[in-house]
Amino acid sequence: MNILGQFRFRAIDLLRGTNIVETLKKLRKEQYLDSQTLANLSRNNYKEFLAQMIPTTQYYTNLGSKVASSVLTKEIIRKNTAALFSKWFSHKKYAKGTGGSTGAPLVYYTTNEAQSFMWAGILLSWETLGYQLGDKVAFVAGTSLGKNDIKHKVFHQLMNVTTYSAYQLNDHDIESYLYRIDKSKTKLMYGYATAINRIAEFILKSQNTYSFSHLKGIVSTAEILSDKHRNNIEQAFKVKVHNQYGCNEAGISAFECDFGNMHYINSATRIEFDNDGNALATNLVNKAFPMIRYFTGDKFDIVENVSCPCKRGYPTIENFMGRTCDLVIDKRNKVMHSAFFNVLFRDNKHIEQFQVLFNDHKLTVYLQLDSNDLPKEMANYYLDAIKGKMEFDDYAIEINAPFLEAENAKHRYVINTSTDTSIPA
Ligand SMILES: [Zn+2]
Repeated sequence: MNILGQFRFRAIDLLRGTNIVETLKKLRKEQYLDSQTLANLSRNNYKEFLAQMIPTTQYYTNLGSKVASSVLTKEIIRKNTAALFSKWFSHKKYAKGTGGSTGAPLVYYTTNEAQSFMWAGILLSWETLGYQLGDKVAFVAGTSLGKNDIKHKVFHQLMNVTTYSAYQLNDHDIESYLYRIDKSKTKLMYGYATAINRIAEFILKSQNTYSFSHLKGIVSTAEILSDKHRNNIEQAFKVKVHNQYGCNEAGISAFECDFGNMHYINSATRIEFDNDGNALATNLVNKAFPMIRYFTGDKFDIVENVSCPCKRGYPTIENFMGRTCDLVIDKRNKVMHSAFFNVLFRDNKHIEQFQVLFNDHKLTVYLQLDSNDLPKEMANYYLDAIKGKMEFDDYAIEINAPFLEAENAKHRYVINTSTDTSIPA
């Protein structure tokens, strides 16, 4: 055990009023309970949560017995914010915003307990790769991970985290990042899949001499990690990559184990699905601003009774289909998921990344290739496949033009240029 590391995190808890160290200790044990025990625990936590929250929260009291079949959308939260505070909770609350990728951002309220859980979940994912509290960590991310005010600076320093901006990464930035990551004996990298992949591609091309001998592993988050990116990253850094997925407002925290399974912490969230397969989650650790059957905008399957060789009893998330903001809507209002393009381009090794821009009449596919050529037959093949599924007046493929970047530097696979306000047109 790393005493100094423990001390760093105890200091954070003391300064921020959180309880990260104790929550992490609890999760470390809890994860190895058998799946039946954990399923019962999740069910009981949910029951208790409803019993405490419904009578003390105006919005749910008004709904009465309809709570069990209700769906809480961002729109409803925006219109009913005042009625969503529970009178049961008397401690400090914090306003939090979620990304505005589907239009107006959402403001909700969180607690020290929920924040502690979020961080403990992230640390648990790092520990699957041998991370110990206090190890040097590199954050490669945009605004949603690497806030830059004084409070966050102190927090990151105590955590022993250095942030590296993923925003408009050029070769010169990457060169200096790599030097600093190697020299500071960084033990773990944590950040956006596409940004880390960009760095990995630079390493693979440049044949530089960094050994990253201190690096234990890389945890990718906030975006879907494609097999191609995972391979690139593992080859470049010669360590394992684990995926992590969190939907903080929903209390969802999932992490990949050594056997490639994404376990989610079911004691903290209760996940159900609507008829279209959208995940509805109840965040069981936020008792200030209860969100019951919250529409996450994510689609995936869950497997309750896992028997993973890692011996963790937490259920797993499978077939993650990304977010509802990754949807293309054609002129007849037919909806197509960005996964369609993933599948379409998957087997072409020259395509490194794609982005689809569309409005009411035109769809443009931006392809990042390892060269400047896309054979005409190939382009026509792609266009025909797209035309077979969607209807626009006009279609185009652009090769190696820069992608549009969101303010938080996450890669966007699909952008609706007629409604999207987070990206300058
Ligand atoms: Zn496992």
